[in-house]
Amino acid sequence: MADIVYTYGNQAYLNITNACPCRCTFCIRNNGDSVGEATTLWFENHSPAIDEIKAEIDAFDFEKYNNSITICGYGEPTCALNNLIDACKHLKNKGIKIRLNTNGLSDLINKRETAKEICEVIDSVSISLNAPTAEKYNEITKPSFGEKAFDAMLSFAKECKEYGIPVKLTVVDVISKEDIEACRKLCEEIDIPLRVREYTAE
Ligand code: SF4
Repeated sequence: MADIVYTYGNQAYLNITNACPCRCTFCIRNNGDSVGEATTLWFENHSPAIDEIKAEIDAFDFEKYNNSITICGYGEPTCALNNLIDACKHLKNKGIKIRLNTNGLSDLINKRETAKEICEVIDSVSISLNAPTAEKYNEITKPSFGEKAFDAMLSFAKECKEYGIPVKLTVVDVISKEDIEACRKLCEEIDIPLRVREYTAE
């Protein structure tokens, strides 16, 4: 069984699914079975049930980790939307601060609008912008949804902003400086901060 709650440095992370509609060129899953202190982040046959997720949350000492958690893991958390929402409610009841890392494609994954229900149960969201145009985004992210993915991701980011939680868009520094600058411009236009993440193999 994979680690559901794991730590990396001084932060706690929640891993609830291995499913993802993308095949990002820089995906950390290509580099090994785990990150940080986790043993493995690959679930053997199935994603964990909500009871398993809650049991791991209950067994974890969040006080050592600033009473906060980032939902991230070896897959896209919104692929397990019901468990994501229920896990967040459980964490919130314990007073844990929640950041969601997502590819922003939840509406396409779940075939309906999802930003509101997600924003109601998290404290902040970090969304992978990855590239400044739909064409470049598809080259890097390789979403199963094709060309509509880039616009869907941007709409999701704008909706999260409208629902009033802190939103960041991110790029990994594997793209060119020109593309990073183009991403910065795009983010300025929609008034969402950009975070440039350093690529790490772990
Ligand atoms: S969206 Fe995240 S989990 Fe999915 S392939 Fe890209 S980096 Fe990996």
